[in-house]
Amino acid sequence: MDKIQLLSPLVANMIAAGEVLERPSSAVKELVENSIDAGADRIVTEIDQGGRSRIKVTDNGCGMSPEDARNSFKRHATSKISKPEDLGVISTMGFRGEALASIAAVSKVTMITRTADSLEGFEIRMEAGESVYENVAGCGTGTSIEIKDLFFNTPARMKFLKSENTEAALITETIERFIIAYPQISFKLIKNGREVIYSAGDNDSFSNLRNIYGKAVTDNLVKISYETEAVSINGYIGNEKLLKNGRKNQMFFVNGRIVKNKIFFAAVDEAMKEKATSGQHPFVILDIRIDPAYTDVNVHPTKAEIKFSDDRFIFANIVSAISSSFTVKGMERKETSPEEEFEPISFIAKPEIKEETVARFNIFKKKLPITANSTNSSRKSSKA
Ligand code: ADP
Ligand code: MG
Repeated sequence: MDKIQLLSPLVANMIAAGEVLERPSSAVKELVENSIDAGADRIVTEIDQGGRSRIKVTDNGCGMSPEDARNSFKRHATSKISKPEDLGVISTMGFRGEALASIAAVSKVTMITRTADSLEGFEIRMEAGESVYENVAGCGTGTSIEIKDLFFNTPARMKFLKSENTEAALITETIERFIIAYPQISFKLIKNGREVIYSAGDNDSFSNLRNIYGKAVTDNLVKISYETEAVSINGYIGNEKLLKNGRKNQMFFVNGRIVKNKIFFAAVDEAMKEKATSGQHPFVILDIRIDPAYTDVNVHPTKAEIKFSDDRFIFANIVSAISSSFTVKGMERKETSPEEEFEPISFIAKPEIKEETVARFNIFKKKLPITANSTNSSRKSSKA
């Protein structure tokens, strides 16, 4: 073996990119998450050739100073956490400080950004992790980041990309999930110069769902609205007409982040055990809000997974949330009372709830409006 060497920042970032950036839609996810963290309420995503040749995300968020713009491309550079304790209570989408460094290592990036109190904007272009151009720029408050030739220097990754249509479809799905999770933000997706998705950002979750899934789906949804002192669960569950063999139509958000955890599937199955034969799964979207202190989102490089300090607590609350919402035809509640059917919530080992926790939870709920708060039927967003 050769002598041990410390890897150069470029190589280290290319390795990180291998985990963070699987495909163009991963880059879109990271950029949009950054825009959300920047407080934007208007986020436009443009893609060409399924994101391979060009991805551009423009937001009206807080923007960056030239110094922050330069630093944002460094590995482990983040404005979102600073001390070990912060890792326990993450309330932003990002925190790893890896996305921009990874993107800049495997593509050609142009960032144009301006903060509200700065008279002029700043443009910086990066190639293979190095700044190759910097200048003042005229622009509005906010940030635009354009990625060209993603994976140009990582042919192995390039080889694994699917067709333009498949990659574009994955990006569409990514934006649709953001629309569902953030009804208060306006999203637009422009594909090869043509607008294909638009949401108005007026908090009308139901009309967003209708635009994404169609009336045949939304006509068969039951609203879930459930709240205890420690958790709130909102969303929709489909009636028997929407049962499917797979779990493609099951989506779970925790504190605004789309996440996976087997406990969600188990809880849905438990709540549905009288209504669906085994192997059949309902359409379900759940927006779960819980104190971040009871979650760990630092378990996966793309932050796609979550751990809970008490799985049983989450499980029981999801079962209760779903089972207390069966009211439409085909999903009627059984004659037995909910208490007989399900363990009352107070029997379940609950994390001890401190006042400070409730206060934090309340702030959290306000910051990220819940999904299922409207059944307004006017058409507010459109999908071409
Ligand atoms: P993370 O999101 O984990 O902090 P990123 O590499 O995604 O790491 O971003 C690095 C930093 O760059 C962020 O912490 C933030 O301060 C800044 N940043 C990135 N994108 C934007 C944006 N669209 N608007 C404002 N600041 C941004
Ligand atoms: Mg980020």
